[in-house]
Amino acid sequence: MQKTTSKIDLEFDQQHVWHPYTSTINPLPCYPVESANGVYLTLEDGRKLIDGMSSWWSTIHGYNHPALNQAAKDQIDKMSHVMFGGITHEPAVELCRKLIAITPEPLQHVFLADSGSVAVEVSLKMALQYWHAKGQRRPKFLTVRHGYHGDTFAAMSVTDPDNSMHSLYKGFLPEHIFAESSERGFYEEWCESDIADFKEKLNNNKEQLAAVIIEPIVQGAGGMRIYHPMYLKRIRELCDEHDVLLIADEIATGFGRTGKMFACEHAGISPDIMCVGKALTGGYMTLSATLATKHVADTVCSGEAACFMHGPTFMGNPLACAVGNASLEILMQGNWQQQVLSIEQQLSELLPEIGQLDCVKAVRWLGAIGVVELYEPVNMAEIQKSFVDAGVWIRPFGKLIYIMPPFIITPQELSCLTVAILRTLKTQ
Ligand SMILES: *Cc1c(COP(=O)(O)O)cnc(C)c1O
Repeated sequence: MQKTTSKIDLEFDQQHVWHPYTSTINPLPCYPVESANGVYLTLEDGRKLIDGMSSWWSTIHGYNHPALNQAAKDQIDKMSHVMFGGITHEPAVELCRKLIAITPEPLQHVFLADSGSVAVEVSLKMALQYWHAKGQRRPKFLTVRHGYHGDTFAAMSVTDPDNSMHSLYKGFLPEHIFAESSERGFYEEWCESDIADFKEKLNNNKEQLAAVIIEPIVQGAGGMRIYHPMYLKRIRELCDEHDVLLIADEIATGFGRTGKMFACEHAGISPDIMCVGKALTGGYMTLSATLATKHVADTVCSGEAACFMHGPTFMGNPLACAVGNASLEILMQGNWQQQVLSIEQQLSELLPEIGQLDCVKAVRWLGAIGVVELYEPVNMAEIQKSFVDAGVWIRPFGKLIYIMPPFIITPQELSCLTVAILRTLKTQ
Protein backbone atom coordinates (compact mmCIF):
# COMPACT_ATOMS: atom_id res chain seq x y z
CA MET A 1 0.00 0.00 0.00
CA GLN A 2 1.37 3.40 -0.99
CA LYS A 3 -0.09 5.42 1.85
CA THR A 4 2.20 8.39 1.39
CA THR A 5 1.76 8.85 -2.35
CA SER A 6 -2.00 8.30 -2.59
CA LYS A 7 -4.28 11.18 -3.50
CA ILE A 8 -6.88 9.52 -1.34
CA ASP A 9 -6.40 9.99 2.39
CA LEU A 10 -6.08 6.29 3.16
CA GLU A 11 -5.44 7.04 6.80
CA PHE A 12 -8.81 8.78 7.00
CA ASP A 13 -10.39 5.87 5.16
CA GLN A 14 -9.02 3.40 7.70
CA GLN A 15 -9.99 5.54 10.67
CA HIS A 16 -13.44 6.75 9.66
CA VAL A 17 -14.89 4.91 6.69
CA TRP A 18 -16.68 1.62 7.27
CA HIS A 19 -16.27 -0.93 4.46
CA PRO A 20 -18.42 -4.08 4.13
CA TYR A 21 -18.03 -6.40 7.12
CA THR A 22 -14.99 -4.62 8.56
CA SER A 23 -13.70 -3.67 11.97
CA THR A 24 -12.95 -0.15 13.17
CA ILE A 25 -10.45 -1.56 15.64
CA ASN A 26 -8.50 -3.67 13.21
CA PRO A 27 -9.25 -2.36 9.70
CA LEU A 28 -7.55 -4.13 6.80
CA PRO A 29 -6.02 -1.92 4.11
CA CYS A 30 -8.13 -1.10 1.05
CA TYR A 31 -6.77 -0.70 -2.46
CA PRO A 32 -7.50 2.69 -4.05
CA VAL A 33 -9.03 2.26 -7.51
CA GLU A 34 -8.79 5.17 -9.93
CA SER A 35 -10.83 3.87 -12.85
CA ALA A 36 -12.15 0.72 -14.44
CA ASN A 37 -12.51 -0.33 -18.05
CA GLY A 38 -13.61 -3.61 -19.63
CA VAL A 39 -12.40 -6.35 -17.28
CA TYR A 40 -9.68 -4.18 -15.73
CA LEU A 41 -9.56 -2.19 -12.51
CA THR A 42 -6.82 0.44 -12.57
CA LEU A 43 -5.29 1.15 -9.18
CA GLU A 44 -4.14 4.62 -8.28
CA ASP A 45 -0.50 3.55 -8.63
CA GLY A 46 -1.16 2.55 -12.23
CA ARG A 47 -1.34 -1.22 -11.76
CA LYS A 48 -4.10 -2.92 -13.75
CA LEU A 49 -5.96 -5.83 -12.23
CA ILE A 50 -8.10 -8.35 -14.08
CA ASP A 51 -11.42 -8.32 -12.29
CA GLY A 52 -12.58 -11.76 -11.18
CA MET A 53 -15.53 -10.53 -9.13
CA SER A 54 -17.68 -8.38 -11.46
CA SER A 55 -18.01 -6.16 -8.40
CA TRP A 56 -20.05 -8.86 -6.66
CA TRP A 57 -21.87 -10.44 -9.61
CA SER A 58 -23.00 -7.18 -11.17
CA THR A 59 -20.62 -5.90 -13.88
CA ILE A 60 -21.54 -8.52 -16.49
CA HIS A 61 -20.65 -6.48 -19.61
CA GLY A 62 -17.47 -4.97 -18.12
CA TYR A 63 -16.74 -1.50 -16.78
CA ASN A 64 -17.11 1.79 -18.61
CA HIS A 65 -19.29 0.26 -21.30
CA PRO A 66 -20.07 2.74 -24.12
CA ALA A 67 -23.78 1.82 -24.41
CA LEU A 68 -24.36 1.96 -20.66
CA ASN A 69 -22.43 5.24 -20.37
CA GLN A 70 -24.51 6.71 -23.17
CA ALA A 71 -27.79 5.60 -21.58
CA ALA A 72 -26.82 7.28 -18.30
CA LYS A 73 -25.70 10.48 -20.04
CA ASP A 74 -28.84 10.70 -22.16
CA GLN A 75 -31.10 10.14 -19.18
CA ILE A 76 -29.31 12.55 -16.83
CA ASP A 77 -30.08 15.46 -19.16
CA LYS A 78 -33.78 14.57 -19.10
CA MET A 79 -34.21 13.82 -15.41
CA SER A 80 -32.23 11.90 -12.83
CA HIS A 81 -35.15 11.22 -10.59
CA VAL A 82 -38.81 11.86 -10.13
CA MET A 83 -41.18 10.31 -7.60
CA PHE A 84 -43.00 7.16 -8.71
CA GLY A 85 -46.22 7.72 -6.79
CA GLY A 86 -48.81 8.94 -9.29
CA ILE A 87 -46.09 9.50 -11.93
CA THR A 88 -44.65 7.16 -14.51
CA HIS A 89 -41.90 7.38 -17.13
CA GLU A 90 -40.50 5.55 -20.11
CA PRO A 91 -37.32 4.12 -18.53
CA ALA A 92 -39.34 2.29 -15.85
CA VAL A 93 -42.09 1.11 -18.19
CA GLU A 94 -39.56 -0.19 -20.73
CA LEU A 95 -37.51 -1.92 -18.06
CA CYS A 96 -40.58 -3.68 -16.65
CA ARG A 97 -41.66 -4.69 -20.16
CA LYS A 98 -38.25 -6.29 -20.74
CA LEU A 99 -38.24 -8.00 -17.35
CA ILE A 100 -41.65 -9.54 -18.01
CA ALA A 101 -40.46 -10.67 -21.45
CA ILE A 102 -37.32 -12.46 -20.24
CA THR A 103 -38.54 -13.98 -16.94
CA PRO A 104 -40.79 -17.07 -16.78
CA GLU A 105 -44.15 -16.39 -18.40
CA PRO A 106 -46.43 -16.43 -15.29
CA LEU A 107 -44.54 -13.48 -13.74
CA GLN A 108 -46.54 -10.46 -14.88
CA HIS A 109 -46.20 -7.73 -12.25
CA VAL A 110 -43.01 -5.87 -11.36
CA PHE A 111 -42.21 -3.98 -8.19
CA LEU A 112 -39.03 -1.88 -8.55
CA ALA A 113 -36.86 -1.34 -5.47
CA ASP A 114 -33.47 -0.03 -4.45
CA SER A 115 -31.30 -3.01 -3.59
CA GLY A 116 -31.32 -6.77 -3.43
CA SER A 117 -32.10 -6.87 0.27
CA VAL A 118 -35.11 -4.61 -0.26
CA ALA A 119 -36.33 -6.80 -3.14
CA VAL A 120 -36.24 -9.73 -0.70
CA GLU A 121 -38.09 -7.73 1.98
CA VAL A 122 -40.70 -6.90 -0.65
CA SER A 123 -41.07 -10.57 -1.67
CA LEU A 124 -41.61 -11.64 1.95
CA LYS A 125 -44.15 -8.86 2.52
CA MET A 126 -46.00 -9.90 -0.65
CA ALA A 127 -46.23 -13.49 0.61
CA LEU A 128 -47.51 -12.34 4.03
CA GLN A 129 -50.09 -10.00 2.51
CA TYR A 130 -51.18 -12.77 0.11
CA TRP A 131 -52.17 -15.09 2.96
CA HIS A 132 -53.64 -12.28 5.02
CA ALA A 133 -55.91 -11.46 2.10
CA LYS A 134 -56.97 -15.10 2.00
CA GLY A 135 -57.89 -14.91 5.68
CA GLN A 136 -55.07 -17.19 6.82
CA ARG A 137 -52.42 -16.57 9.45
CA ARG A 138 -49.16 -17.79 7.99
CA PRO A 139 -46.25 -15.98 9.66
CA LYS A 140 -43.38 -18.38 8.82
CA PHE A 141 -40.97 -18.98 5.95
CA LEU A 142 -39.15 -22.16 5.05
CA THR A 143 -35.70 -21.99 3.50
CA VAL A 144 -32.53 -24.08 3.35
CA ARG A 145 -29.20 -23.87 5.14
CA HIS A 146 -26.23 -22.08 3.55
CA GLY A 147 -28.48 -19.50 1.92
CA TYR A 148 -27.93 -15.77 1.63
CA HIS A 149 -30.71 -13.26 1.03
CA GLY A 150 -29.31 -9.93 2.21
CA ASP A 151 -28.41 -7.91 5.28
CA THR A 152 -31.68 -6.25 6.30
CA PHE A 153 -33.61 -7.96 9.10
CA ALA A 154 -36.22 -9.96 7.22
CA ALA A 155 -33.68 -10.96 4.56
CA MET A 156 -31.21 -11.91 7.29
CA SER A 157 -33.85 -13.99 9.07
CA VAL A 158 -33.94 -16.39 6.09
CA THR A 159 -30.15 -16.31 5.60
CA ASP A 160 -28.06 -19.15 7.10
CA PRO A 161 -28.35 -18.72 10.90
CA ASP A 162 -24.68 -19.52 11.59
CA ASN A 163 -23.12 -17.53 8.76
CA SER A 164 -25.16 -14.43 9.51
CA MET A 165 -24.80 -14.87 13.28
CA HIS A 166 -28.46 -14.88 14.22
CA SER A 167 -27.31 -15.24 17.82
CA LEU A 168 -26.38 -11.53 17.84
CA TYR A 169 -29.96 -10.47 17.19
CA LYS A 170 -31.84 -13.02 19.22
CA GLY A 171 -35.15 -11.76 20.53
CA PHE A 172 -35.52 -9.29 17.69
CA LEU A 173 -34.93 -11.39 14.59
CA PRO A 174 -37.91 -13.46 13.47
CA GLU A 175 -37.26 -17.21 13.65
CA HIS A 176 -37.96 -19.21 10.51
CA ILE A 177 -37.51 -22.82 9.48
CA PHE A 178 -34.32 -24.17 7.92
CA ALA A 179 -34.09 -27.45 6.02
CA GLU A 180 -30.87 -29.20 5.05
CA SER A 181 -29.57 -27.91 1.71
CA SER A 182 -28.90 -30.29 -1.15
CA GLU A 183 -25.71 -32.33 -0.83
CA ARG A 184 -25.81 -33.28 -4.51
CA GLY A 185 -23.72 -31.14 -6.85
CA PHE A 186 -25.05 -29.90 -10.17
CA TYR A 187 -23.32 -32.60 -12.23
CA GLU A 188 -23.74 -35.45 -9.73
CA GLU A 189 -26.39 -38.11 -9.85
CA TRP A 190 -29.61 -37.04 -8.14
CA CYS A 191 -30.53 -38.89 -4.98
CA GLU A 192 -34.12 -38.67 -3.77
CA SER A 193 -33.11 -38.76 -0.08
CA ASP A 194 -31.62 -35.27 -0.50
CA ILE A 195 -35.06 -33.73 -0.38
CA ALA A 196 -36.29 -35.76 2.62
CA ASP A 197 -35.53 -33.18 5.30
CA PHE A 198 -37.07 -30.37 3.27
CA LYS A 199 -40.15 -32.47 2.61
CA GLU A 200 -40.57 -33.25 6.30
CA LYS A 201 -40.15 -29.62 7.39
CA LEU A 202 -42.63 -28.45 4.77
CA ASN A 203 -45.13 -31.10 5.76
CA ASN A 204 -44.82 -30.42 9.49
CA ASN A 205 -45.21 -26.65 9.14
CA LYS A 206 -47.39 -26.15 6.09
CA GLU A 207 -50.31 -24.54 7.95
CA GLN A 208 -48.12 -21.66 9.08
CA LEU A 209 -45.88 -21.31 6.02
CA ALA A 210 -46.35 -18.23 3.85
CA ALA A 211 -43.65 -19.23 1.38
CA VAL A 212 -40.46 -21.09 0.66
CA ILE A 213 -37.58 -18.79 -0.28
CA ILE A 214 -34.52 -20.16 -2.03
CA GLU A 215 -31.62 -19.20 -4.28
CA PRO A 216 -32.13 -21.33 -7.39
CA ILE A 217 -29.23 -23.71 -8.28
CA VAL A 218 -26.41 -21.57 -6.85
CA GLN A 219 -26.23 -20.57 -3.20
CA GLY A 220 -24.02 -17.49 -3.30
CA ALA A 221 -22.59 -15.65 -0.31
CA GLY A 222 -23.78 -18.39 2.08
CA GLY A 223 -21.31 -20.95 0.75
CA MET A 224 -20.97 -20.87 -3.05
CA ARG A 225 -22.75 -24.20 -3.38
CA ILE A 226 -23.98 -25.38 -6.78
CA TYR A 227 -26.74 -27.91 -6.36
CA HIS A 228 -28.75 -30.39 -8.38
CA PRO A 229 -31.69 -29.01 -10.42
CA MET A 230 -33.90 -31.89 -9.18
CA TYR A 231 -33.73 -30.39 -5.70
CA LEU A 232 -35.34 -27.22 -7.00
CA LYS A 233 -37.82 -29.15 -9.14
CA ARG A 234 -38.93 -31.14 -6.10
CA ILE A 235 -39.34 -27.93 -4.08
CA ARG A 236 -41.64 -26.52 -6.73
CA GLU A 237 -43.69 -29.74 -6.73
CA LEU A 238 -43.93 -29.79 -2.93
CA CYS A 239 -44.97 -26.12 -2.80
CA ASP A 240 -47.74 -26.84 -5.31
CA GLU A 241 -48.83 -29.95 -3.47
CA HIS A 242 -49.10 -28.18 -0.10
CA ASP A 243 -50.23 -24.79 -1.37
CA VAL A 244 -47.20 -22.79 -0.24
CA LEU A 245 -45.79 -19.93 -2.34
CA LEU A 246 -42.31 -20.22 -3.85
CA ILE A 247 -39.96 -17.22 -3.89
CA ALA A 248 -36.88 -17.55 -6.12
CA ASP A 249 -34.06 -15.20 -5.13
CA GLU A 250 -32.28 -14.75 -8.49
CA ILE A 251 -30.35 -11.69 -7.30
CA ALA A 252 -26.96 -13.37 -7.79
CA THR A 253 -27.91 -15.94 -10.43
CA GLY A 254 -30.08 -13.82 -12.74
CA PHE A 255 -29.14 -12.37 -16.14
CA GLY A 256 -27.08 -15.20 -17.57
CA ARG A 257 -24.56 -15.89 -14.82
CA THR A 258 -25.31 -19.64 -14.56
CA GLY A 259 -25.54 -20.23 -18.31
CA LYS A 260 -29.31 -19.66 -18.42
CA MET A 261 -30.95 -16.25 -18.35
CA PHE A 262 -32.39 -17.27 -14.95
CA ALA A 263 -31.22 -20.23 -12.89
CA CYS A 264 -34.81 -21.49 -12.44
CA GLU A 265 -34.61 -22.55 -16.09
CA HIS A 266 -32.11 -25.30 -15.19
CA ALA A 267 -34.98 -27.00 -13.35
CA GLY A 268 -37.68 -25.90 -15.78
CA ILE A 269 -39.66 -24.27 -13.00
CA SER A 270 -41.34 -20.95 -12.48
CA PRO A 271 -41.66 -19.33 -9.03
CA ASP A 272 -44.66 -17.37 -7.73
CA ILE A 273 -42.40 -14.46 -6.79
CA MET A 274 -38.91 -13.70 -8.11
CA CYS A 275 -36.26 -11.24 -6.90
CA VAL A 276 -33.63 -9.78 -9.21
CA GLY A 277 -30.92 -7.21 -8.55
CA LYS A 278 -27.12 -7.14 -8.78
CA ALA A 279 -26.56 -7.39 -12.59
CA LEU A 280 -29.85 -5.65 -13.42
CA THR A 281 -28.07 -2.42 -14.38
CA GLY A 282 -24.89 -4.12 -15.59
CA GLY A 283 -23.24 -3.06 -12.34
CA TYR A 284 -23.79 0.68 -12.77
CA MET A 285 -26.43 1.66 -10.25
CA THR A 286 -28.31 0.12 -7.39
CA LEU A 287 -31.65 -1.21 -8.57
CA SER A 288 -33.68 -4.34 -7.95
CA ALA A 289 -37.07 -5.77 -8.79
CA THR A 290 -39.54 -8.23 -7.36
CA LEU A 291 -41.81 -9.93 -9.87
CA ALA A 292 -45.05 -11.71 -9.04
CA THR A 293 -47.67 -13.73 -10.88
CA LYS A 294 -51.00 -12.10 -11.65
CA HIS A 295 -52.64 -14.42 -9.11
CA VAL A 296 -50.26 -13.38 -6.31
CA ALA A 297 -50.43 -9.68 -7.16
CA ASP A 298 -54.21 -9.58 -7.46
CA THR A 299 -54.71 -11.57 -4.27
CA VAL A 300 -52.35 -9.23 -2.36
CA CYS A 301 -54.39 -6.25 -3.57
CA SER A 302 -57.74 -7.84 -2.76
CA GLY A 303 -56.95 -7.80 0.96
CA GLU A 304 -57.66 -5.36 3.76
CA ALA A 305 -55.05 -2.80 2.62
CA ALA A 306 -56.39 -2.93 -0.98
CA CYS A 307 -52.83 -2.37 -2.22
CA PHE A 308 -49.33 -3.64 -1.71
CA MET A 309 -47.93 -1.80 1.31
CA HIS A 310 -44.55 -0.63 0.07
CA GLY A 311 -43.15 2.39 -1.79
CA PRO A 312 -39.53 3.48 -1.44
CA THR A 313 -38.57 7.10 -2.09
CA PHE A 314 -36.29 6.23 -4.98
CA MET A 315 -38.60 3.61 -6.47
CA GLY A 316 -38.19 3.30 -10.25
CA ASN A 317 -35.28 5.75 -10.35
CA PRO A 318 -35.16 6.81 -14.03
CA LEU A 319 -31.38 6.96 -14.22
CA ALA A 320 -31.02 3.42 -12.90
CA CYS A 321 -33.87 2.17 -15.11
CA ALA A 322 -32.31 3.75 -18.21
CA VAL A 323 -29.01 1.98 -17.57
CA GLY A 324 -30.91 -1.22 -16.77
CA ASN A 325 -32.64 -0.99 -20.15
CA ALA A 326 -29.30 -0.61 -21.92
CA SER A 327 -27.89 -3.60 -20.04
CA LEU A 328 -30.90 -5.80 -20.83
CA GLU A 329 -30.70 -4.76 -24.49
CA ILE A 330 -27.14 -6.08 -24.63
CA LEU A 331 -28.29 -9.31 -22.99
CA MET A 332 -31.23 -9.67 -25.36
CA GLN A 333 -28.82 -9.60 -28.32
CA GLY A 334 -27.73 -12.98 -27.01
CA ASN A 335 -23.91 -12.95 -27.16
CA TRP A 336 -23.80 -13.69 -23.44
CA GLN A 337 -24.77 -17.30 -24.11
CA GLN A 338 -21.60 -18.08 -26.05
CA GLN A 339 -19.50 -15.97 -23.66
CA VAL A 340 -20.77 -17.76 -20.56
CA LEU A 341 -20.53 -21.18 -22.24
CA SER A 342 -16.85 -20.54 -23.15
CA ILE A 343 -16.11 -19.42 -19.60
CA GLU A 344 -17.77 -22.56 -18.26
CA GLN A 345 -15.81 -24.82 -20.63
CA GLN A 346 -12.54 -23.16 -19.71
CA LEU A 347 -13.27 -23.37 -15.97
CA SER A 348 -13.98 -27.09 -16.38
CA GLU A 349 -10.49 -27.46 -17.87
CA LEU A 350 -8.60 -25.18 -15.46
CA LEU A 351 -10.17 -25.79 -12.06
CA PRO A 352 -9.48 -29.55 -11.69
CA GLU A 353 -5.73 -28.83 -11.53
CA ILE A 354 -6.35 -26.52 -8.57
CA GLY A 355 -8.50 -29.30 -7.09
CA GLN A 356 -5.36 -31.49 -6.88
CA LEU A 357 -3.70 -29.25 -4.27
CA ASP A 358 -3.57 -30.61 -0.71
CA CYS A 359 -5.20 -27.50 0.79
CA VAL A 360 -8.19 -27.72 -1.56
CA LYS A 361 -11.29 -29.59 -0.45
CA ALA A 362 -13.32 -29.18 -3.64
CA VAL A 363 -13.63 -27.23 -6.87
CA ARG A 364 -16.90 -26.55 -8.70
CA TRP A 365 -18.20 -24.47 -11.55
CA LEU A 366 -21.32 -23.54 -13.46
CA GLY A 367 -21.72 -20.93 -16.17
CA ALA A 368 -19.43 -18.00 -15.39
CA ILE A 369 -18.90 -19.06 -11.76
CA GLY A 370 -15.81 -20.90 -10.50
CA VAL A 371 -15.33 -21.94 -6.87
CA VAL A 372 -12.35 -23.29 -4.92
CA GLU A 373 -13.24 -24.50 -1.44
CA LEU A 374 -10.33 -24.87 0.99
CA TYR A 375 -10.00 -26.88 4.20
CA GLU A 376 -8.92 -23.82 6.19
CA PRO A 377 -9.99 -20.16 6.06
CA VAL A 378 -7.62 -17.88 4.12
CA ASN A 379 -5.52 -15.15 5.67
CA MET A 380 -7.40 -12.31 4.04
CA ALA A 381 -4.76 -9.54 4.09
CA GLU A 382 -2.04 -11.90 2.88
CA ILE A 383 -3.98 -13.57 0.10
CA GLN A 384 -5.45 -10.29 -1.11
CA LYS A 385 -1.97 -8.81 -1.46
CA SER A 386 -0.71 -11.84 -3.29
CA PHE A 387 -3.60 -11.67 -5.78
CA VAL A 388 -3.02 -7.96 -6.37
CA ASP A 389 0.69 -8.63 -6.89
CA ALA A 390 -0.33 -11.26 -9.46
CA GLY A 391 -2.42 -8.63 -11.30
CA VAL A 392 -5.86 -9.95 -10.45
CA TRP A 393 -8.76 -8.83 -8.28
CA ILE A 394 -10.18 -11.81 -6.41
CA ARG A 395 -11.76 -11.40 -3.00
CA PRO A 396 -12.15 -14.64 -1.06
CA PHE A 397 -14.22 -15.12 2.06
CA GLY A 398 -13.57 -17.73 4.73
CA LYS A 399 -12.63 -21.00 3.08
CA LEU A 400 -13.85 -19.91 -0.34
CA ILE A 401 -11.94 -18.49 -3.27
CA TYR A 402 -14.33 -17.84 -6.11
CA ILE A 403 -14.53 -16.01 -9.39
CA MET A 404 -17.45 -14.70 -11.42
CA PRO A 405 -15.80 -12.49 -14.03
CA PRO A 406 -17.50 -10.13 -16.49
CA PHE A 407 -18.88 -12.16 -19.42
CA ILE A 408 -16.53 -10.33 -21.83
CA ILE A 409 -13.37 -11.78 -20.27
CA THR A 410 -11.00 -13.37 -22.83
CA PRO A 411 -9.60 -16.90 -22.44
CA GLN A 412 -6.12 -15.45 -21.70
CA GLU A 413 -7.49 -13.15 -19.00
CA LEU A 414 -9.51 -15.97 -17.46
CA SER A 415 -6.46 -18.21 -17.25
CA CYS A 416 -4.58 -15.35 -15.53
CA LEU A 417 -7.23 -15.61 -12.79
CA THR A 418 -6.92 -19.37 -12.34
CA VAL A 419 -3.12 -19.29 -12.59
CA ALA A 420 -3.07 -16.64 -9.86
CA ILE A 421 -5.21 -18.87 -7.64
CA LEU A 422 -3.01 -21.90 -8.35
CA ARG A 423 0.28 -20.06 -7.65
CA THR A 424 -1.03 -18.29 -4.58
CA LEU A 425 -2.31 -21.53 -3.05
CA LYS A 426 0.96 -23.31 -3.86
CA THR A 427 2.98 -20.72 -1.95
CA GLN A 428 0.64 -20.50 1.04
C1 LIG B 1 -26.40 -9.96 -2.86
C2 LIG B 1 -27.62 -10.74 -2.63
C3 LIG B 1 -28.72 -10.18 -1.94
C4 LIG B 1 -28.69 -8.80 -1.34
O1 LIG B 1 -28.52 -7.80 -2.30
P1 LIG B 1 -27.99 -6.35 -1.85
O2 LIG B 1 -28.07 -5.55 -3.10
O3 LIG B 1 -26.59 -6.55 -1.36
O4 LIG B 1 -28.89 -5.86 -0.78
C5 LIG B 1 -29.85 -10.96 -1.79
N1 LIG B 1 -29.90 -12.21 -2.28
C6 LIG B 1 -28.87 -12.77 -2.94
C7 LIG B 1 -29.01 -14.16 -3.48
C8 LIG B 1 -27.69 -12.06 -3.13
O5 LIG B 1 -26.66 -12.63 -3.76
